[in-house]
Amino acid sequence: MTIFYKYGGKLYINVTNRCSCNCTFCIRQNGDTVGDSGSLWLEHEPSFEEIVKAFEAIDITGFTEVVFCGYGEPMERLDIVLQTCEYLRRVSKLKIRLNTNGLSDLINGKPTAHLLKGLVDTVSISLNASNAKEYESVCRPSFGENAFPAMLQFARDCMQSVERVIFSVVDIIPKQEIEACQKLADEMGIPLRVRVYEG
Ligand code: SF4
Repeated sequence: MTIFYKYGGKLYINVTNRCSCNCTFCIRQNGDTVGDSGSLWLEHEPSFEEIVKAFEAIDITGFTEVVFCGYGEPMERLDIVLQTCEYLRRVSKLKIRLNTNGLSDLINGKPTAHLLKGLVDTVSISLNASNAKEYESVCRPSFGENAFPAMLQFARDCMQSVERVIFSVVDIIPKQEIEACQKLADEMGIPLRVRVYEG
């Protein structure tokens, strides 16, 4: 079972396959590996003890950052993410990045960004649309129209607690939408990264 994997010179951690979105471009629909990661479909969600054991077994030489990513939304397992961050802070000097759909508050039924304070260095939030209607059609969130404003609020909250917050969009959405996302990101004072789609 692949919990940690290395891809493109980065170290990733995969803690769940669950996600409250069903994005039209999701890599989960196109296979189950990234590079030579091995299958990212987890046999079961790893316990904290399994995560520690997996971390102890990998060589992190040359890596400066570990990224919560994988085949699902990490914040579906908020407690495990926080516990794992605390552990990684204790035993390594790795920077910690969270790649997220930004719907943590809806998933967990409470504000959550402040919980990341001191534990996560960078939060990268999938923006992928410039308005609620587009967001619903591209990301197909289970929370419907509540999702887009909640994601933006989570981003604002993260700016209070986390050193670096970035938005990302995949480059397969229409050019006008990318421009509109850029405008929204600029208004919020959050850098936007246009991600090359590797599906
Ligand atoms: S948020 Fe990420 S994991 Fe979830 S469906 Fe979208 S692309 Fe897939």
